[in-house]
Amino acid sequence: MSRRHLLIAGGAAAAAVAVGGCTRGDDRSSQRASAPLKETPGCVDGDDVEETPAQTAGPFFTPNSPERANIADGVDGDTLVITGTIVSSTCEPHAGALLDVWQCDAQGTYDNDGFRLRGHQFADDEGRFRLETIVPGVYPGRTRHIHVRVQPERGRILTTQLYFPGEAQNARDGLYREECELSMADDGTASFRFVV
Ligand code: FE
Repeated sequence: MSRRHLLIAGGAAAAAVAVGGCTRGDDRSSQRASAPLKETPGCVDGDDVEETPAQTAGPFFTPNSPERANIADGVDGDTLVITGTIVSSTCEPHAGALLDVWQCDAQGTYDNDGFRLRGHQFADDEGRFRLETIVPGVYPGRTRHIHVRVQPERGRILTTQLYFPGEAQNARDGLYREECELSMADDGTASFRFVV
């Protein structure tokens, strides 16, 4: 997926922002939307928000990934920065929550021997994270996606997947969930709020 494709896709994501659920992006993506949209407020402590749906881990998870925010160092592909938060269903930030990410490369291949495009990090005191990666390719039978595991301190593990707006294959992938779509900003960055 080219950078241009990402920019076009951003419009669709911004439209989804107003709908709610876990597709709601942060304020920045609302402000950058080209169409006039009602600004989506970020949730505050006490707000009820829908939990992020769980998804299968698939066959390619590798435990004990390295701790790093950039999982694509030296990997060819279109840069993708994903920022977001990890919060409870009453919108309290999960300070220090674990975010473990794994994905295929731009050609649709997983590194199952090493840790290329794999890594984990911990959210800051306000539950925020920032992941640097590349746009994953596609492989047979699946739409474009990124695998994640999220675990609050002393909390249960949420295993799920993140999807990209505007992908033709979303409709043909039985695992795809709109609630798990990234919100794309006009500058090609993405955001997501995990509710667990
Ligand atoms: Fe996969």
